[in-house]
Amino acid sequence: MTAEQHKPLYEMSTLELKGVGLSLSEKLAKLGIHTAQDLLFHLPLHYQDRTRLVPIGHLQNGQKALIQGTIQQCEMNFSGKKLLTCSISDATGLLQCRFFHFTASQKNQMAVGKLMRCFGEARFGKIHLQMVHPDYQIFDEDQIPLLPQTLNAVYPTTEGISQKRWQQLIAQILDVISHQSLEELLPQKLLKHFSFPNLEHSLKMLHLPDCEHSLYALESGQNRAQQRLIFEELMAHQVSMRRVRQNVKSHQALCCYRQSANHLSLTKQLITSLPFQLTAAQTRVVKEIRQDLMQNQPMLRLIQGDVGSGKTLVAALSALMMIEAGAQVALMAPTEILAEQHGMSFKSWFKGLNIEVAWLSGQHKGKQRTEIEESIASGQARMIVGTHALFQKSVSFLELGLVIIDEQHKFGVHQRLALKEKGNVANQVPHQLIMTATPIPRTLAMTAYADLDTSIIDELPPGRTPVQTVLVSDHRRDEVIERIRKGCQQGRQAYWVCTLIEESEALQCQAAEVACEMLSESLQGLSVGLIHGRMKADQKENIMSDFKKGDIDVLVATTVIEVGVDVPNASLMVIENPERLGLAQLHQLRGRVGRGIAESHCVLLYHMPLSLKGKQRLSVLRETSDGFKIAEKDLEIRGPGEVLGTRQTGLANFKIADIIRDQQLIPLVQEWADLLLQEQPEAAEKLVKRWLWNAEQYAQV
Ligand code: ADP
Ligand code: MG
Repeated sequence: MTAEQHKPLYEMSTLELKGVGLSLSEKLAKLGIHTAQDLLFHLPLHYQDRTRLVPIGHLQNGQKALIQGTIQQCEMNFSGKKLLTCSISDATGLLQCRFFHFTASQKNQMAVGKLMRCFGEARFGKIHLQMVHPDYQIFDEDQIPLLPQTLNAVYPTTEGISQKRWQQLIAQILDVISHQSLEELLPQKLLKHFSFPNLEHSLKMLHLPDCEHSLYALESGQNRAQQRLIFEELMAHQVSMRRVRQNVKSHQALCCYRQSANHLSLTKQLITSLPFQLTAAQTRVVKEIRQDLMQNQPMLRLIQGDVGSGKTLVAALSALMMIEAGAQVALMAPTEILAEQHGMSFKSWFKGLNIEVAWLSGQHKGKQRTEIEESIASGQARMIVGTHALFQKSVSFLELGLVIIDEQHKFGVHQRLALKEKGNVANQVPHQLIMTATPIPRTLAMTAYADLDTSIIDELPPGRTPVQTVLVSDHRRDEVIERIRKGCQQGRQAYWVCTLIEESEALQCQAAEVACEMLSESLQGLSVGLIHGRMKADQKENIMSDFKKGDIDVLVATTVIEVGVDVPNASLMVIENPERLGLAQLHQLRGRVGRGIAESHCVLLYHMPLSLKGKQRLSVLRETSDGFKIAEKDLEIRGPGEVLGTRQTGLANFKIADIIRDQQLIPLVQEWADLLLQEQPEAAEKLVKRWLWNAEQYAQV
């Protein structure tokens, strides 16, 4: 490897390593390992202590340990299952090794009188202490091998790469880095502050930990070397997000000036025209947004607020500030239904203010579309509401000053940035306001949305009664249908939600069609409607408006109604197969009811058999209606990738950090990341390259 010695590790393909051919390099690539550097940062998942022998008599049930003894007996048993048992003993006790798969030569090696050394998990069997399929070595008394000096690393792997293989590969890289020093990217003062070991030492230590390191600390991520790398990785992530932010912030944006006290601003006019008062949380968040909009840098703000907390009104008030300052405002929603509903809310709010609202969706075609596009381009329409149709080339704004995105987790970062480009006129970029109903714990938000400032609407408008949630097995479907009949006869309305079957939208729609037929049959005299994702937008619109008017009693729906739909008279919701969905998603669905004064109910109609864990999980919804608590549970159970959408955030791709386990580090990481960006921008850039080159590519889109 001498010629290669000075080549940086990140330029060295795995193919250049000894013993790596095309097939192995492809397997490595599947794990995201393309270069020698990737391999160096492929860190062990677990550790085993094989550095000392445990006397057989001292073993505890379940203990993983290395033992050594003399072979007393070795037998094959063919009655029933094929089984090889080999009993060994030391001065303190006897243990039986059991093998269900073995070869004749394996059996022959296990000769009585030889020594056998085993690593495995000790179990108290019926008669004997046992180890099933231990790793083992056999040798003669005069050839006892030395014990290893380091703890044994167990690597995350894929089919066809053995632990031995990993150890060989890593040993090669460690050999390279002992000739070629690794660049330390963390500032010295940081290392000193936390007493972190340097990079090279940390990596060597984690691949080959000395036996004096505590196994417990290593297994729980508490070892200093691990902490250092966790910190570094979280910092890399933070830095990459902050760079996206800096990039946006380096542009100019239109600012709205402070109005004089007696000026009757548009926001004041709207507020006085409402039949209710803003909640304290809404008022606070509107103020935070106003502060941002008075800057001549683009705002980057996330509003988190539980379903029904009144985010749309906050969006409308923000829009008015910019419209008053002479800009256009675009609001983008993830579904047609939601876009339409927002369009209607804005039209009714802005009518009295003489502000033209345009609504653009995929369904607008031909002349109608041209007209809408013209009103946007000419600046006649001041408020534009739409779906991702707003991204299309044919749409151009005259003076886009603010982009509002509802339910951001449905969009990726790059879609968000694309709309930003639309307003990129004369080095000005629009402000961005993002609204999400997926409340995520603060530390996770700091990581997932590190490019955004956050406001939280932590209060619901008064007069809401919490939704009563029950878990019912689908054996009792008939009772549930009966309940719907009673409710509807009293003038209420109901949703019947069909969930996704194995990610297939087509099947979900089919299930909804079947459910609709079934319900129409059992609920004679009531009107049952159907809405699903495969219907045309105008069809959906008609159904939704019939439901709003009360012409439909029971609306069978797929999860398309998940976000935003507002029908206060609907007070009963049945969710079929809720076990298929995440808690946060169920919570959002449930938020469609409980919007009026009537007491609302949500029935989680689960499919038997449901595991105890599955039942406990769903019970969280019965116990609380606090979106933050639910999100936290969801996160614990399903992990951040699932909750936030892996593709959007890349959060599931951490190599060593664990966003839940390590969350207490995040505020510190944020501080140091900002410092690094200010003081050592070059190191910051390298750090991002080292840890998340593909995520960064993504963020550059
Ligand atoms: P979400 O935060 O889920 O998007 P919405 O903006 O759809 O919530 O608001 C839900 C409902 O609450 C709407 O009908 C809205 O008009 C109403 N609303 C918003 N703010 C208030 C308030 N301060 N008092 C009473 N009702 C409100
Ligand atoms: Mg909403």
